[in-house]
Amino acid sequence: MYPNAGEDDCVGNVGEHGLHITLKDDGHNNWFFYLPRTCAHCTYPACLASCPRKAIYKRPEDGIVLIDQSRCKGYGECVRACPYKKSMYNPHTRISEKCVGCYPAVEEGKQPMCVQNCIGRIRIMGFINPPWPGKMRKNNPIDYLVHEKKIALPYYPQLGLEPNIYYIPPIHANRDYLTQMFGPRVDEAIENYKNLKNDVVTQGLLVLMGATDRIIHSFDVKNGIAYAYDDKGMEIVNVPIKEPLAERIAYDSSIGSIRVNTP
Ligand code: SF4
Ligand code: SF4
Repeated sequence: MYPNAGEDDCVGNVGEHGLHITLKDDGHNNWFFYLPRTCAHCTYPACLASCPRKAIYKRPEDGIVLIDQSRCKGYGECVRACPYKKSMYNPHTRISEKCVGCYPAVEEGKQPMCVQNCIGRIRIMGFINPPWPGKMRKNNPIDYLVHEKKIALPYYPQLGLEPNIYYIPPIHANRDYLTQMFGPRVDEAIENYKNLKNDVVTQGLLVLMGATDRIIHSFDVKNGIAYAYDDKGMEIVNVPIKEPLAERIAYDSSIGSIRVNTP
């Protein structure tokens, strides 16, 4: 059982003249975006509720949802129950498998591999707090993006599982489509995102994404520098919001020659 078969794949034959997409104002609203999807480690996981073997559990310490591989008998109920199609039956092992939230890394205070390795530096992993006063922390990166700035939303919230992956929605895609995917708050999220160009705090948080393999428990922005701190308040990394420009003079007087970038 591969629940996403045919959805995330490119299909069809490449014809004699190749494939192309034309973006022009011909009345057809062309748009696309890529949505990386992993298990959302839902607050109310349908996979967990569906398992007759009670093989699935949610860890109280970090919220990661795991399948106990020794209890699973491969009935596939979790595969059918997960509306995000994130549990998969492995015909070789004959049991179900899913994202493990990289719990060995998380236990060491590190972010999951898909976050660490994202070359676009668009991902951050952390721990969200409830939104009410006294619980949420504005200096917690996840609370800040979700509760304070309200620019990150869960996908298909109407399914009721409270998925714990939040997306900053794309601004150019079809708004009706985005509304059914991210819910009615998508307009507010996109407007807030568009207003970030003068918001140095959020810019600072965005440059901290991908700047460290460690979990950022709090952050601060001072004098154009973004600082990330661990759970003990120790600094992990600091990054300038504006990347410094290094200009190399082409003529190197020490060797009397012009340096070029080609060998
Ligand atoms: S996304 Fe699916 S597999 Fe992951 S916790 Fe939620 S219901 Fe379970
Ligand atoms: S890298 Fe880790 S957290 Fe990311 S999808 Fe894979 S198992 Fe899940």
